[in-house]
Amino acid sequence: MPELPEVEGVVRSLAPAASGRTIRKVAVSDTIIKSKSEAKEAILKNLSPEEFAGRMRGMTITNVTRRSKYIYFHLDKDGDTHLLVSHLGMSGAWFAVSDIDEVREEKFRRHIHVIFGMEDGGLLAYADIRRFGELRLIGAESDYPPLLAMAPEPFDESAAGHFLDLCRTPKFAGKPIKETIMDGKVISGCGNIYATEALFRTGIHPGRKTGRISIKRLERLFAEIRQVLGEAIEAGGSSISDYRNINGEVGGMQDRLRMYGRQNCPDCGAQTKRMTIAGRTSVYCPKCQR
Ligand SMILES: [Zn+2]
Repeated sequence: MPELPEVEGVVRSLAPAASGRTIRKVAVSDTIIKSKSEAKEAILKNLSPEEFAGRMRGMTITNVTRRSKYIYFHLDKDGDTHLLVSHLGMSGAWFAVSDIDEVREEKFRRHIHVIFGMEDGGLLAYADIRRFGELRLIGAESDYPPLLAMAPEPFDESAAGHFLDLCRTPKFAGKPIKETIMDGKVISGCGNIYATEALFRTGIHPGRKTGRISIKRLERLFAEIRQVLGEAIEAGGSSISDYRNINGEVGGMQDRLRMYGRQNCPDCGAQTKRMTIAGRTSVYCPKCQR
């Protein structure tokens, strides 16, 4: 699943490719139309395919930004601003192309679900192999409360204090630290890969109760999360499973991950262990992480 660095990679390539362009036509896949007709919410979250297409037509994309793991398309039509919020789910990907055949990998090309035909003749296409992604057209962030409940961006000054405060609340003090740091209300955009790395780097066992970790160690852990997210952004994200940036490119951070997916600890050589926390597999070194 794309985490903050992967979404940042998408936004950095998408913003210059999409900004300033106006949507002339909208095509929605038969798969989505069928799913919506069966009252399921595949990808298009709050509108029917017809409503979505009608409202997106004529929108100018003024900018593309990131908030946590969400992509925000800032839109303008006749002086009114709107927001298209895109979550990539497990395997969502955006492509800026002049023809769909330019989406080189077949697994993405076969699963294109929304195509914006731009006034300049180009296309902006959303592919999603497993269809866990979301597209939600709203007026502003406040129209969708979960967006307002997200923790500050990890690079914001207020983020560390926000994290430390929540670690001391009864809600999180009794939870495993890995579950706490992967909660988007506590830290924005830290998923399984980077939580695993940061816990290894700080020698903290993923199952340790949040409230039983000293403030000093929690401060170090937060600094390490910020560090590992920053490194991953620089490396263009991790190419685990189906992450691609808009040019179909993959990142290089996976080669620098020291604990995620490892059989042996790179520091002491011990066999790594696995435990399930909050439904996700956690890898850790039983000797180095306490
Ligand atoms: Zn070790």
